[in-house]
Amino acid sequence: MSGSAGAPLPLVFDAPRRAMPPRHFADLDEATRGAAVAELGLPAFRGKQLANQYYGRLIADPTQMTDLPAAVREQVGQTLFPTLFSAAREIECDAGETRKVLWRAVDQTTFESVLMRYPDRNTVCISSQAGCGMACPFCATGQGGLKRNLSTAEILEQVRSAAAELRERDGSRLSNIVFMGMGEPLANYNRVVAAVRRITAPPPQGFGISARSVTVSTVGLAPAIRKLADEKLNVTLALSLHAPDDELRDTLVPVNNRWKVTEALDAARYYADATGRRVSIEYALIRDVNDQPWRADLLGKKLHGALGPLAHVNLIPLNPTPGSKWDASPKPAEREFVRRVRERGVSCTVRDTRGREIAAACGQLAAQG
Ligand code: SAH
Repeated sequence: MSGSAGAPLPLVFDAPRRAMPPRHFADLDEATRGAAVAELGLPAFRGKQLANQYYGRLIADPTQMTDLPAAVREQVGQTLFPTLFSAAREIECDAGETRKVLWRAVDQTTFESVLMRYPDRNTVCISSQAGCGMACPFCATGQGGLKRNLSTAEILEQVRSAAAELRERDGSRLSNIVFMGMGEPLANYNRVVAAVRRITAPPPQGFGISARSVTVSTVGLAPAIRKLADEKLNVTLALSLHAPDDELRDTLVPVNNRWKVTEALDAARYYADATGRRVSIEYALIRDVNDQPWRADLLGKKLHGALGPLAHVNLIPLNPTPGSKWDASPKPAEREFVRRVRERGVSCTVRDTRGREIAAACGQLAAQG
């Protein structure tokens, strides 16, 4: 393989023991929210009011919660709505339709989210971890290693900020959420699942975004994929495959040394069966690395066998990352790849990549201020 990454870097499944941010209202579910409100000496109905403000009106600053007695707003702010992060840098392209925000948390940890507006939908791409421990050599986030997990509230605050921005800007709605920012969502499993529950719960218990419009993208942690299937959340699963054979995938997606292509696809099948949903197979097309016609054939064959009509291949033209000599496949090779996958009876499309010029596209998030 040209441009080999050498020996795979060690994988990090457990985040370094860094202190997590202070507790926030968005970390709480209905039961713990009741207790937190009672601790403040407030009647139970205040809990529902706060939820209405936060999830329904998208307000996270109690001084703006006019239905809350003025005398308690400050205390509620301090104990339940601490500031978790602020925007350190914002950059946009596509005439403002794509916008990347670099967030800086109270402990100085940085991470990014990207808001993309389309004629028919608004999508926010959010981070689940600061950095990433999966070490995929073609991804900028993977090169920096894992800093720490994000809390449930830090994940949800990215969603709320995006939704609030859309509402303020032109009254439009946030319709789609993709866990395709920094981090491996299934390596921060409990916090991500808690966040998904709040994202999909109807207001006032959550943002009320349809589960099928939420995509969790994973490098292929097979046991966690099965566990997610059993949660019955019915979110869309994306599996980052990038190679149909173990030899190449061992180097492109180092976690393959732990769970092989077959195990990842078996887990994806389990997910598809449990949810009845199609699984997105992500494949970053890299010139002369994974774009050969025989690999397209093998990909089509394996997916047809493992998932049949429940597979959909999303080809992502490789986005450039600093220091990498790899680049996207030429268009004719890409077209031939699509044709061959389809010939095996597997649906396949090329993703429209947004935000390359502001390093906001897939695999380019490095949280550099
Ligand atoms: N950890 C999750 C989310 C990663 S980002 C996962 O691995 O799925 C979402 C997608 O972008 C993944 O499929 C990832 O492999 C892909 N990606 C990473 N770097 C890329 C690059 N330079 N060009 C194109 N896609 C890339």
